[in-house]
Amino acid sequence: QRLSVRSGVLTATGQRFAAEAVSVKGTLGEGSYGQVFEGALSRQGGTERVVLKRVKTRVEGAEEMGQMELLLNVYASQKARGAIAQFMGHIEVQPEEANYRLTPGLWLVWKYEGCRTLSYYLRRRDCIQALAKDLAVPEQAVVATVMKQILECLTALHNAGVVHRDVKPLNLILSEGERRFKLIDLGAAADLRNGTNYAPDESILDPSYCPPEQYCLPTTGPHLGRQLAPLKLAISPLLWSRHKPDCFDSYSTGLVMMQLAVPKLRTTSALKTFNKSFQACKCDLEAWRERERLAPAQSALLDADDGAGWDLAQALLRPRKLEVLDNGGVEFINEGKGARLRVFAALKHRFMKQAAAAGEALAA
Ligand code: ADP
Ligand code: MG
Repeated sequence: QRLSVRSGVLTATGQRFAAEAVSVKGTLGEGSYGQVFEGALSRQGGTERVVLKRVKTRVEGAEEMGQMELLLNVYASQKARGAIAQFMGHIEVQPEEANYRLTPGLWLVWKYEGCRTLSYYLRRRDCIQALAKDLAVPEQAVVATVMKQILECLTALHNAGVVHRDVKPLNLILSEGERRFKLIDLGAAADLRNGTNYAPDESILDPSYCPPEQYCLPTTGPHLGRQLAPLKLAISPLLWSRHKPDCFDSYSTGLVMMQLAVPKLRTTSALKTFNKSFQACKCDLEAWRERERLAPAQSALLDADDGAGWDLAQALLRPRKLEVLDNGGVEFINEGKGARLRVFAALKHRFMKQAAAAGEALAA
């Protein structure tokens, strides 16, 4: 493993491939910071199908983001294997090695596991049927199955001290081989155990899926990125249990759930409208539901099992209020009935039984 020094901390950058070992093929996707291609990687054993991401060079701060994304992928593929797309390594293309497709700079490499994101399915008219087929579960178990997969991936990431901060349909890829959705795009993720990619007052987030409080820790908290390594390791578990920064991802996951379950919320413009009226209802899903007067076909997946879906979505979408403490510090309200449900706890919600039942039916 190669090591590099960043902010005074030694950091593993993982496997590095030679530029001549890869060839770039068709485009798989594009976000605001990266362009993603299918590619081929030649090694002693033969040629493998891979995914290649190049960080856009003309976007401000993109270079640094690419470096962070590399570090986070190396870290998460060790600590949360299976939760993220299978990361293989990186390439540093020198100007003299470049060609018109393989441009100079940092490239990240994953094993090719499929090309369909959850966004692809949400755009389809037959969204639930297509998911049922590709996940091999009954239609009535689709929402719970996808939710379970997302929540399991996030729990693994959170257990490693990482908050994803950009959970959305475009950042969930279906692994065809495993029939499971996995997280991609760690470009906005923050490793709160080691401080990688975390600055308290910085936001690089998709406003459509971002929780209303916008930050995963109170912005007046200590700046992890500037702490020395041993100190960071010592304060982080405390910060985590006090502020529960993982609740940031809970909210985004709640929005993904609403889009999956309610057909008319699946477009980006419909989600924006939802966000506005949901905030107007003070994050009260019951109130939103009354105001909206959804047709039964729109709410059927949430109504099932005595409204189990409504209950889970509401718990994930609760507002996080800041509380001022006696010592002048601030803290999110995390306890009690009004607290937003944490990701690992959501896995135990009764709505998940729908996924378990489907699994058993399949195994039988
Ligand atoms: P950005 O940081 O610009 O949002 P992403 O990492 O999210 O970039 O990648 C953009 C798009 O490329 C994704 O929405 C997806 O369609 C595709 N993509 C990214 N990584 C993979 C992967 N490992 N496998 C398949 N497709 C991918
Ligand atoms: Mg993305």
